[in-house]
Amino acid sequence: MSYDDNNIFAKILRGELPCEKVLENDYALAFNDIAPQAPIHILVIPKRPYESASQFSQNAADQELVAFQRLVGEVVSLKEIHDGGYRLISNTNRNGHQEVPHYHVHVLGGRDLGRMVF
Ligand code: 5GP
Repeated sequence: MSYDDNNIFAKILRGELPCEKVLENDYALAFNDIAPQAPIHILVIPKRPYESASQFSQNAADQELVAFQRLVGEVVSLKEIHDGGYRLISNTNRNGHQEVPHYHVHVLGGRDLGRMVF
């Protein structure tokens, strides 16, 4: 499976589609999900093209990995959801029902999210 340059997040990264930016650094961007499933629903994506968590973790440079994780933490701090609790989700491929084939982490919080789905 090769990376699809025309996916929605690639277009957002190129500035061809708008997004509600929350935070960014040199290697990652955080923006509000267009169809929020919780009061806080933010997507964190790497700026370089990776399809999945495993492809990112295996192929990204150390500084990209660090910058991505730091941005996730900064989003949690900015939105003050640590103490109440939050959930990180990364859907992958068919079984994971991944809709957009650019690696992303959903940061969900602001309400009781229920138990994890098995
Ligand atoms: P996935 O199922 O791939 O993990 O989730 C993709 C997410 O991207 C969904 O939660 C969906 O609402 C969100 N999304 C899809 N298109 C857009 C868009 O154009 N802008 C933003 N901000 N989010 C989008």
